[in-house]
Amino acid sequence: MKASHTEFPLNPHVAGLPPYNAGMNIAAARLHSGREDIAALASNENPDGCSPAVAAALASLNPARYCDPACTALRAALGEKLGVATDRIVVGNGSEEMIAAVCRAVLRPGAVVATICPGFGLHEIEALANGAVVVKVPMRRDLEFDIAAIIGELEKTPAIFFLSSPSNPVGVALGRESLDRIIAAVRPETLLVLDEAYFEFADDNLPDGLAVLSASSLSFVVLRTFSKAYGLAGLRVGYAVTSDARLAGAMTAAKTPFNVNAAAQIAAVAALRDEAWMRSSVLTLKAERTRVAAAIAAMGLPAVRSQTNFLFIDIRRDSQMAMQHFLSQGIIVKAWKESGFENFIRVTIGTPSDNDRFLDAIGALTTQ
Ligand SMILES: *Cc1c(COP(=O)(O)O)cnc(C)c1O
Repeated sequence: MKASHTEFPLNPHVAGLPPYNAGMNIAAARLHSGREDIAALASNENPDGCSPAVAAALASLNPARYCDPACTALRAALGEKLGVATDRIVVGNGSEEMIAAVCRAVLRPGAVVATICPGFGLHEIEALANGAVVVKVPMRRDLEFDIAAIIGELEKTPAIFFLSSPSNPVGVALGRESLDRIIAAVRPETLLVLDEAYFEFADDNLPDGLAVLSASSLSFVVLRTFSKAYGLAGLRVGYAVTSDARLAGAMTAAKTPFNVNAAAQIAAVAALRDEAWMRSSVLTLKAERTRVAAAIAAMGLPAVRSQTNFLFIDIRRDSQMAMQHFLSQGIIVKAWKESGFENFIRVTIGTPSDNDRFLDAIGALTTQ
C-alpha cells in the first residue's frame, strides 16, 4: 500500500466500527468441515423455506425495470394488515436498513443512544456510524430485562433507545406490565425503537408492541421483518412502522431511493397473502423449540426460555471452541462474543433432523 493511501482521511466513526458478528455461510462451513450436509443454525432463518405462493408470484418479475421506490403495493398490504396509515410505514432492504435509516434521520454527532447488553449488534453499530455514543443496559443475571435499569437510562433522555423484544440474542420478551412501565418512562426527547423481528414466534398472551405504542403519545418506531417467520431472509425485506408520518418521511429521506428490489417487493406481497403458511410453519418451529429446550434442560444445562426461533444457551465453556466442535460436525451455531457472555451460543431452531444433530453434538460436548 502506498503511504498516500494510508493517510487518506476516512470518516473515523465508520472506519473504526466493530464488525457485525454474521453467521458463517454454508459454503464456508462445507470448506471448514469437509461435510456436504450442513445444519445452518446460526442466522435464525426459516428451515421450512417460504410460502410456495412466493415462487409463483416471482414469475411476474421483470428484472429490466426499476422497482417502485415507494413500495406502494407492499405498504398498502401492510397498512391493511396492521390497521396503520401507509404514510407511517417505511420498507427497507431488510429491517437492518431501517435501523440505519432511523439513526441517520435522528442522530447528530455526540448524541447518546441506549440499548441492551447482550443485544443485536446493529443497534450499536449503526448508532456509532452516525457519531453517537452508545450506552448499554445489562440484562439481569437471570437473563430477564432489567426494567428498573432501563427506566433509569430513559430518564437520562437518550436520543434513541433500541430494544429488541422478543430479545435477540436472549429470547425473552417484555410482558405488558413491563412494556407499560418502559413507555411511561420515555420522555418526548427520546425515540423508542422496538425491534420486533421475532414477533410472530411469541406467545399470544404477550403484548403486540405496535398496538400498545400506537395507543401512546410517544415518538416510536416498530421494526418487523420478512426474514425470519416468513422465510425471505435472502431477499432482504423488512419494515418500520412509525408513530407519525413526519418521522416516516425523515426515514424515507435517509434511505436510498430504490432500496427494496423488485423481487423482494413481489415476494413480500405474496407472503402476506399466504399468512396461513407462515402460521403453520411457526407452529411447527415452536413445537421443535419446546422439544429442543427440554432436551437441553435434561442434559443439566441451565433452562432456556425463548419467544423466538432460537435458543441462547449457557454451555459453561468457551463458545468459540465449542463453535469449532459443532463446525467439525457440519453444524453452524453462533458463538456469542459480548463481554460476560462468551460462554453462550445462540442456536436457531431448524428441521427436526438438524435439531437432533445439534442435540447429539451438544450432548457429546457437555459430557466431555
Ligand atoms: C434478524 C434481525 C433483524 C434484521 O433482519 P433483516 O433480515 O435485516 O430484516 C433485525 N433485528 C433483529 C433483532 C434481528 O434478529
